[in-house]
Order: sequence, then C-alpha cells, then structure tokens
Amino acid sequence: MKKLLNVPTHIILIISMIIGASCKKEVAAKTNYDLVISKVNLIDGTGKDLQENVNIYIKDSKIAKIDKVALGSNEQKNVINGEGKYLVPGFFDCHAHTGDYKADFPRFMHYGVTSVLITGGSTCTNDYFRQMRDMGEQDSVPGPRVFHTSQHFIVEGSHPVKTYTGNNWKEGESFFILKDTAQISELVKSVSEYPISGIKLTIEDGPYPPFVERMPQEFVNHVNKEALQNGTRVFAHVSDNHELKMAIDAGIKNLLHYTGVDLDFEKDKELIQSIYNDSISWVTTLMLDKSMMYPKNPEWFDVEGLKEIYPPEEFEKVNNPDYIFRAEEFVKFFQEYYGFDDPTLKQVIGFQVEDFIQLTRNGVNMVLGTDTGNDFILPGYSLHEEMQLLELGGMDPAQIIKMGTLNAAKMLEVEDRLGSIEEGKVADMVLLDANPIESISNTLKINSVFKNGKVQTRIE
Ligand SMILES: [Zn+2]
Repeated sequence: MKKLLNVPTHIILIISMIIGASCKKEVAAKTNYDLVISKVNLIDGTGKDLQENVNIYIKDSKIAKIDKVALGSNEQKNVINGEGKYLVPGFFDCHAHTGDYKADFPRFMHYGVTSVLITGGSTCTNDYFRQMRDMGEQDSVPGPRVFHTSQHFIVEGSHPVKTYTGNNWKEGESFFILKDTAQISELVKSVSEYPISGIKLTIEDGPYPPFVERMPQEFVNHVNKEALQNGTRVFAHVSDNHELKMAIDAGIKNLLHYTGVDLDFEKDKELIQSIYNDSISWVTTLMLDKSMMYPKNPEWFDVEGLKEIYPPEEFEKVNNPDYIFRAEEFVKFFQEYYGFDDPTLKQVIGFQVEDFIQLTRNGVNMVLGTDTGNDFILPGYSLHEEMQLLELGGMDPAQIIKMGTLNAAKMLEVEDRLGSIEEGKVADMVLLDANPIESISNTLKINSVFKNGKVQTRIE
C-alpha cells in the first residue's frame, strides 16, 4: 500500500483506465458463447438437490457460466432448449477392459460414458494404452477420455494369467511377474514414467475355486511404498476380506472390486475403522454378480435398442453350456452359503449395497465400475445396469449419480476439471429426456452426449 501512495497520480489514472477498458471488453464478449443449454433441470454431480430452469454457457470446451437469468431473443446463436430435460455430468466407468477399443469406445459414448479407467488386460501393452489414449483425446470420433493403470503386477502362478488362460497374455508387455523386492523398485520406476493413474496390483488368488497363488504381504507393502516414492499410487485387486486387510495394512487407498468381500460391521470393527480413517476409494462392480446370472435370465437383454449396438455373439452366449454351468454353480453357492432357496438379483447384490450405504455414510469414496470386458457386461450399457443394481439395493439416485461422476473424478485425482457441472470445469455432460432422480433407469433416456462441450455422434 505504501508503494502505491508514492506513485504519481497520473499513473494511477492510466492504470484505472486500462482496468476499466478491459472490463468493458469482457461485457462485449459476454454474448459470444459456443453453446448454451437453456432452462434445463440440473443435477450437477456434487450431490446437491436438482436445480430447475438453469442456463449452462459453454466456451472453449468449458462451462463458462451457470445462471438462471432469462435469455433474451437473438441473444445467443447456438441454444439447445433444455426445457423438460435433465442435465447430468458425463459418466465414468472406473473398472473397464477392452480387447477392441475401436469398436467399444463409440459404445461407451453412445451410453453417456465419457470417461473410463482401463484396469489392464491381456492386450494392454504400452502401445495399446497409447492408442486408446490417442482415440480418447480427440473429439471428432466418439471415444471416452482414457485413464488407465499400469499392466497387471502379479506373482508366478497367480490370477489372472493362470485363471484366464484363453487370453493371449504377454509377460513383460501386458503383465509383470514380481520375483523379489529389488526387482519391484526398478519395475515401479519404469511404469511410473508412463501417464498411468496408478499401478494395477493383483493380490487375489483367483475369482473362484480352484484358487491359485496369492501375492505375499511383503510384496504388497513394497509395491505401495515404491509407488508413493515414484509419485504414483496403487489400485488393488482384492476379492475377499483377507486380501482386503492385506491391501489396507500396506496403506493402499484404491480398491478395484467389492465382489467377494463380506464385511461384518460388528465383528470387523478394527479393519473397518482403518478403512474409514484412510480416505479409501472403492469401486463397486456389482455387474460381476449380475453377469453370472444372465444365462438363467436371458430376458434381461430385451431392452429397446440394445441389440443394434452390440454384435449378436454377445447375446448368444446365454446358450453356451459352460456359462449355464457357471450360472448353476453361482446359484448353488448362494443357496448353500446364504440359505436363499432361489436367489433373486436383489438378494445377491442387496447385502453389498447395504455395505456401500454404510461406507458412504462414513466417508468412503464409493465409485462406479462394471468390469466390462467380462462376459455379459457390455461397454456403456452395463454402467446403467450397475446404477440400477444400486437403486435395487436401496441406494439414493442422487448418490448413485455422484458415485459415477464426482466420486470417480476424485479417485482419479481430476476433480478440479472433471466430474461435475460447475463453472470452470470441462463440459462433459449427458442430456436426459426424463428425471433420473425419480428412477435411475431414466439415465438410459439419453437425448445428447457432450464431450468438451461438443455434441457427440451416437450410434444410429
Ligand atoms: Zn477387471
């Protein structure tokens, strides 16, 4: 302040004139937006209540302004009338695999999934990851933003290389076998040089019997320690309470599955308390359970438009004897273990959703993911099924939307630019013809999908 007082008066005058001029300029540029969505019902992804009659102004791919001021006629050129419609942020699928991204990416976009977290896979070499990122970075061909982990870190004789033998896994390219701690340091360092969201660490001993090797605790600890030292993080793949405890004990903050975990909030108090204290992000993948039941319920595929989006083989699998056998085993497990006579979908996923509600209340960042790439889990469409399963289990629709948008962006550490409809954020959005708060299945009533503020081509 002292300094300013010493400045001659005429200089202060000139400065204030310059400031005044630049303010005027901004007023003149005010009407020059790339796109406006007017009078829309906004569900912004933050968990806030629905806001009616809102205008969204888009400039240079971003949400420049949000207001409720009535638009004068001829004031704007590119206006989409949002009256009677509902605007939500673009959805994230935070557990996805694809062996054919060129075919799958337009399907994600068709269904409003504008960001994906690819969590490795047998095709995921460094070059394949790069090709997916390249497709996700442009907006002339429909493709979601691509976030991805490293290749799978596993131990000799473990999941998924030992269990999914039909896939063409390539050691050193699409997965790495951990042998000793000295080698872990080098490996973590080398994958950290790529634009990964974190390391995919497969602790689990396989999805169902016969179980295979499980990663030793010292390896889990070492990978997490090295990851932090190299400025990255770990996304752990666990599938029972023991493996969950291993991940938490090692200090890992991101979990890619809930399937197989069965928390007892009375008995497992110590473990649950450390989950609450550790700011954990946890991906749901209820679709894995539903996918097991598809061969017994092929009518679930009778959804308008679905069969035009995916190849017929996806639907014909319900007649495959191997999948029918697997479905019967799945039912048997729920009969024997939980005592359900004829387990319904609600019974199979219900106890998991109850846990999600409890975990959410206690600050755990629950995130949507499907594990698409597995049979009967369709890229794009199945994220809506995941949301419907959460609603079936009793989760509130506004919270479900937040799990698929802002919570996902938080887990990926991109919430400063993605995940909600707020001023300054990138305009990835989905315009719906019906209210998803009334019924989450209304997320399928898609009018338009926006990425970078541009309307995306959907599959005809
Ligand atoms: Zn997976």
